[in-house]
Parts: sequence; structure tokens; C-alpha cells
Amino acid sequence: MLTRQDIDFLRSFRSQTHPVFSVYLNTDGKQVSKKEVETKLKQMARIVRLRLNGSTDKDFRREALQEIQKIEDYILNNYKEFTIKGMALFSCGSYNLWHEIELPRPPRNRFILDETPYIRPLQFQEVEYRRICTVVLDQHTARIFLIYQGAILEYKLISDDVPTKVKWGGWAGYDEKRSNRKHAQKVNEHFEHVTGTLFELFKRDHFDWLIIGCKTEYLKEFESSLHNYLRDRVVDHLELPSDAPEHEILERSMKVEQTKTFEEHYALVDRVLHTSQAGGLATIGLENVLRHLNGSAVDTLLVARDYVAGGVRCLNCNFMGILEKSCSLCGGETVEVDDIVTEAIDRALDQSVTVKQIFEGVGMDRAQNMAAFLRFRI
Ligand SMILES: [Zn+2]
Repeated sequence: MLTRQDIDFLRSFRSQTHPVFSVYLNTDGKQVSKKEVETKLKQMARIVRLRLNGSTDKDFRREALQEIQKIEDYILNNYKEFTIKGMALFSCGSYNLWHEIELPRPPRNRFILDETPYIRPLQFQEVEYRRICTVVLDQHTARIFLIYQGAILEYKLISDDVPTKVKWGGWAGYDEKRSNRKHAQKVNEHFEHVTGTLFELFKRDHFDWLIIGCKTEYLKEFESSLHNYLRDRVVDHLELPSDAPEHEILERSMKVEQTKTFEEHYALVDRVLHTSQAGGLATIGLENVLRHLNGSAVDTLLVARDYVAGGVRCLNCNFMGILEKSCSLCGGETVEVDDIVTEAIDRALDQSVTVKQIFEGVGMDRAQNMAAFLRFRI
């Protein structure tokens, strides 16, 4: 799994004299076959080799070519089949850097040679996930779970001593009333114990969402004892027994995450369409978005997760376009790139633009697969 330590470790690595490689591969069997992954890898490696032809530093070039071969051989020989959604590999032979990470979601394919590991797509993957806390409870027990990137971890089991209710009592029901008052008070103390523990966890882990699993009859009382900060984070209530198996809790929580993200993406696409149609600060379509990225005018970029399109890039000023033979900004020569969308995403991240990769099924095709909210119009 992708961890913050991975990112921190890679962020601190730099080599000015030796080549550092970062390779991202989409290996999701639902989208691509093994053969297609291999072809893509070879294709990307070939482009980097071609670029190295222009390098005047012979030692650097030799070292880089060796490293490319090592990466290619490793991936082609070690993966009989791909059972993961995606992988990232970072390497720098001279410093014994060889760091492979399994990715929870398919990345866009990249093969990059630079002075530092190219980690933006990792951070990008990470921010797409919500930190979820799911609590399942009844009137005397509670189990608290943390869910992140499709994995579940039990944080705490709480079991409080709550006397059972008396169904019928002694003289004129006096005992029954007294006993039930006591019961209600103990249940309330139990709920406060649970919400207190949740707040401690929140202060430590800052989860984004809270999901409550309990019988509907307890929900109101339980919610009323939640700290305000936490009440704002409640995204759903699930009818789950307090002893529900972990895999069910994970499954149901992930479903909530999917639904909520889907709704959020759907609303974003709607808003970008309406804003652009009304002549506001939004634009749709590759060509318009590239023009605004070239001019650093994009605020938020929306792109369909699987969208790929060819384009051109200026060798002189990095202008991005679709067909231009010469750059419309500086007149310099342009080169064709087979995926201008990935370049556009990287450029956007460079400019600290928020990038949202829109899920399939949300209808991003309504916005021509690529759209943006703008800071200003060009
Ligand atoms: Zn140019």
C-alpha cells in the first residue's frame, strides 16, 4: 500500500549527476491486457532512449541506458501477470535506489528521467482517498474502525457495563421505573464514552468522514452526544449490527465513499457545464483548457480518468497545443506527444491547480472529457 513514508522518503531523494527514473504503469486488468502494458512500457522506454541520444555527457547516457534496460527487464520478467491496479517504480542505480510501490488506483502511464523522483502522481493518488472512521455500536458496546485506501483497521473496542432493562417490576412498577432510569443513564454514559473516544481519534488522525452503524432507534441520541466537529463529518448512517464482520463494515463503508464521490463529481461536471454555458469562469474541451493552462489561468482542472489525446509541445517554451507545427507563443518548433492530457495534468499540478480525475459513469463526456474552472478568461 502507498504510505506517507514512501512519499516522504522519495521527496527527500535527489541526484544531480546520476539519472533518476520514475515509472508509472496502469496495470488494471479491467482496462488493459498484459500485452498492452508491455507494449506501452517499451514504447515509453524507447522515447526516453531517443531523448538520451542528444545527451553530451557520455557517462550519464551510458548509465541511463543501463538503468532503462534494468527497469524494462525487471517489469517484463517479474510480472507473469498483473494482479494489481497499478505500479510505480523509482530507481537510481548509483545510489542503490530501487523503490517499487503498488498503487491502489490505476495511474496514467509515465516514464520520466529527472534529478529527483517524480512523486506528484503519488500525492495525487493519495488525496483522492478519504480517511473514513466507521463506528458500529449498540447500547453497551462499540467498535471503531479506520478505513483508508480500501484497507480497514480496528482502532478500539469499547464495552461498557450497562444493566439490562427490567420488563416488569415490584410494587406499582416502582422498581421498573427506577431500574429503567438507571438503564437510560448508563446508555447515555456509554454513548458519551464512545463519542469522547471518537473525538480523541479525530484529534489524532483527522479523518474526513464519520459513518455511524447502529439501529435507527439509537441514532438520534448517539448523534446528539457527538462533538460539533464530528457531527459535521457524519456522511451516512448504516443499519449494521455491532458484531458485523469486518469485511462487511469495509464493504459498506467503501460503498458510501463511492456514492459520495460519484455525487460530488456529478455536481462538479454539472457546475462546469452551466458556468461555461452562461459565459462564466469555466471552459470545456481540450483545446480551450490547454490555452488556459498555457496562460496559467486555470483554477480547477476536471479530466475524465481514462481520457488520452495526442498533441504537441513547444521545445522552447513548453507551450501545449493540439496540431500547431510551430508554437503560437514563441514561434519555436513543436514536437508531437502521444498523450498531451498527462502533460496537461502535470502542468496543472506544477501551477498548484486542483486536479480532479472524474470517475467513469459520471458523464464527463458531456464536458468533452476535459474542462476547467478558471481564474480569468483568455
Ligand atoms: Zn514556444
